[in-house]
Amino acid sequence: MPLTPSLDRLIHELQKLPGVGPKNAQRLAIFIFKKGADFSRALSSAVIEMSQNVKYCSSCAGICESDICDICSNSLRDHSKVCVVEKPTDVFHIEATGQYNGVYHVLNGLISPLEYLTIDKLNIKPLVARINSADSPVREIVFALPPKVEGDATMALIKKMIQRPLKISKLAQGIPTGCEIEHIDSMTLARALNNRN
Ligand SMILES: [Zn+2]
Repeated sequence: MPLTPSLDRLIHELQKLPGVGPKNAQRLAIFIFKKGADFSRALSSAVIEMSQNVKYCSSCAGICESDICDICSNSLRDHSKVCVVEKPTDVFHIEATGQYNGVYHVLNGLISPLEYLTIDKLNIKPLVARINSADSPVREIVFALPPKVEGDATMALIKKMIQRPLKISKLAQGIPTGCEIEHIDSMTLARALNNRN
């Protein structure tokens, strides 16, 4: 049921968010209206500021507010060790364990034939270039991908493309099959990192 043109426009935009259906979008729009003009201004300026400032790191494709993220630009990190993750948020979860001192590479997805997410839509080629270049400092790859078919397929493909002898490991077993990295508690994730095989 249409409300007013401005509310309908907001509802239309809110419905584009993941997990927000028409009813929820309507509820959120009314909530925002009731909160008043100050809240609307703060919300919209936060969204605009974020979209202007947040970008992908030009080295690891993690998210940051400069060209190179704090991890990639930190000379105290071990740049010979690259942890490969699916999503930018996985970086924050692994960092929270305090158990990893290497750098990262974010794929921004996994190989998934059903969703037509193929190698060209993912950040795989830059990773392979980063590993295979003659002056690459990379000596070890740690795969921290979710233990499911897509994660395994992605890991197998990357392994095939590596042309230099490297130490390759993945998070230890004990992480439930099909589980996303972000749903694993810090203790379990730290143990899986330390016992990687
Ligand atoms: Zn980075």
